[in-house]
Amino acid sequence: MDDKNICRSCIDCAARSCDGKSERHPDFCVSQGTEPDFREEIKSRYTDDPENSRIMKASAEIENDYYCRLTRVEETIEWAKKLGAKKIGIATCVGLLSESRMLAKILRSHGFEVYGVSCKVGEIPKTDIGIDKRCLAVGTNICDPIMQAELLEKEHTDINIVMGLCVGHDSLFYKYSHTITTTLVVKDRVLGNNPAAALYTAESYYKSKLFK
Ligand code: SF4
Repeated sequence: MDDKNICRSCIDCAARSCDGKSERHPDFCVSQGTEPDFREEIKSRYTDDPENSRIMKASAEIENDYYCRLTRVEETIEWAKKLGAKKIGIATCVGLLSESRMLAKILRSHGFEVYGVSCKVGEIPKTDIGIDKRCLAVGTNICDPIMQAELLEKEHTDINIVMGLCVGHDSLFYKYSHTITTTLVVKDRVLGNNPAAALYTAESYYKSKLFK
């Protein structure tokens, strides 16, 4: 796309004045373009909704109190404790069952009850829901994020954790999860579940692979 036709936003910004460290905003600053009423309305969603307030306060405290000191696994545990969660649901990719078993072991050692559901639960054939036959090459049955979410709801989990659900299957899990969900592992079959590595190397090794 021609540079002139790009609609500029935060991804085109180098000023980052919204982090409070600089007064310099770009002409297209998204933050400066918001109306005061809109900001107040958003603010009220954090203050007037008890659940949002609870989640935001807990998350801010975890960020502040353990900044650069705890791993994501540890932060997730502290966050769950702060929220008063007793029972944790794990929605796992069947390919990450070992990691999910380890996570469950760790969570149980902290006193949580844990219930996990793998993506192949229900064993619904792909062809039953109209998926193209060529997709059978990587497995007969669907990944079933809706059933994962429904089964975790039946278990009355307080919070859910996503462990490596596929691109798009994760979207359906988030859509149907009855409770708040955090993500611990993001699947990348090529990069050892570290999708950011493609971005770190996008101007070097992966340049020809990623750019059109
Ligand atoms: S809100 Fe403004 S200053 Fe902050 S990243 Fe976006 S454009 Fe940059």
